Amino acid sequence: MGETVLKAWPPKYDPSYLPAAASPYWNKGRDTMDPTEREQRVILPKLQAQLKYAYEKSAFYKRKWDRVGVRLEEIRSLEDFEQIPFVTKEEIREDQLAHPPFGSNLCLPREEVGRIHGTSGTTGKPTAFAIGRGDIARIAEAHARCMWNFGLRPEDTVFIGSFFSLYWGSWGALLGAERLGATVFPFGAGVPGQTDRALEWMKEVRPTAFYGTPSYSLYLAERARARGFDPRKDFAFRILFFSGEPGAGIPSTRKRIEETYGGICVDSGSTAEMAPWMSNCECSHRQGMHLYQDVVYAELVDTASRKRVPYGEEGVTVYTHLERTSQPMIRFMAGDISRWVDDPCPCGLTFPRLPRGVYGRADDMFVVRGENVYPSAIEDVIRSIRGFGDEYRIIITREKAMDELMVQAEYEPGVDSQTVSRLKDRLESELKARGLRTVVQMMPPDSLERTQFKARRVIDKRDLYDDAIRRR
Ligand SMILES: [Zn+2]
Repeated sequence: MGETVLKAWPPKYDPSYLPAAASPYWNKGRDTMDPTEREQRVILPKLQAQLKYAYEKSAFYKRKWDRVGVRLEEIRSLEDFEQIPFVTKEEIREDQLAHPPFGSNLCLPREEVGRIHGTSGTTGKPTAFAIGRGDIARIAEAHARCMWNFGLRPEDTVFIGSFFSLYWGSWGALLGAERLGATVFPFGAGVPGQTDRALEWMKEVRPTAFYGTPSYSLYLAERARARGFDPRKDFAFRILFFSGEPGAGIPSTRKRIEETYGGICVDSGSTAEMAPWMSNCECSHRQGMHLYQDVVYAELVDTASRKRVPYGEEGVTVYTHLERTSQPMIRFMAGDISRWVDDPCPCGLTFPRLPRGVYGRADDMFVVRGENVYPSAIEDVIRSIRGFGDEYRIIITREKAMDELMVQAEYEPGVDSQTVSRLKDRLESELKARGLRTVVQMMPPDSLERTQFKARRVIDKRDLYDDAIRRR
């Protein structure tokens, strides 16, 4: 066990290390360690080192912690750590506005920044991420470890069917697959005509693993069928892994992807601010994302008490980097709702899991007639009913001060009009059974817009209604 004790911080990983070919684990010692021992001998020392580093190098944390009187020498346990205040997305955004472009939390001199990434900025000014050169090596290690543990091997060829842009996901998959020694086919996405070219390349090169968003993988399959390809026979994917959208953790969407391609569908990902590290990731048993607690320390907390909720319960996600030298996030309040458990997984990893993934994304939630609604719950219902296509929209309007919910859902090609009306009734009644009074509008196949990236399926028109009322 001696080798797992923290020798130096930040940790340095041997870039030439590979596990034995037959090993199911990237690093058996670290991956199957007793959880209590891991907390004491690995997580706590790394956490204390990360806190000290952040306090010394980051004006952001010094200011924030001094204000509330945090004394780092008093943090001697993970319980003590719970007195550290949360960091919010809003705070990071404001800090970057006040100290452009990277905020007052950039702990490295500019010449040690290896890469610049950011949020896509679809809602407001993008958040900028500066990533240190040493961090990049640790990111590659973390990705390779998760990938090995879900079954990726050096013999695999990984097709990356996603944007190479500010968005981190594709780059992380690339770094991890290269570190693991796999062949990488960084195909990208988003250029006109690229989907059709992807199909031809996928048939010819026969990559064995796919990375992208769940939405795009379903669109790709739809396009394949329309052009006479059979995704199970013509392509050779044995593993499809995803991040960027919750879909891969939604049971009926996962089933659809696995039936379509004949490979396993693996969910991964946390949130953009933490994302350079792959630390939430399923194993080949797909029983929920494991939390690789020794790389990013995840808590599910009660927001009022700031305390961790017990295993088995629901809470919101809070993350802390344990080996980041560039812009460490310490108790970053991602705010996504999930439930965690610590019962054993058949894979043998000893990390806790999120058995239903991150099902309530804080950014996606909307409120209708006082009820919190998560689009993922509606998606799960639509995709569990045979006869519906892959695409749908959720439209919220307001009539006479009442919120109205409409779901537009495509039916599959070749479905007759009687079946269409039966599908409509069935979806309405299944949503009603879940407390959602909804009007369903059946849409012909291929009538809703497709995406090659993250789907935007919720359209909230209530602002238009409110504006109209105000102007009257
Ligand atoms: Zn597992």
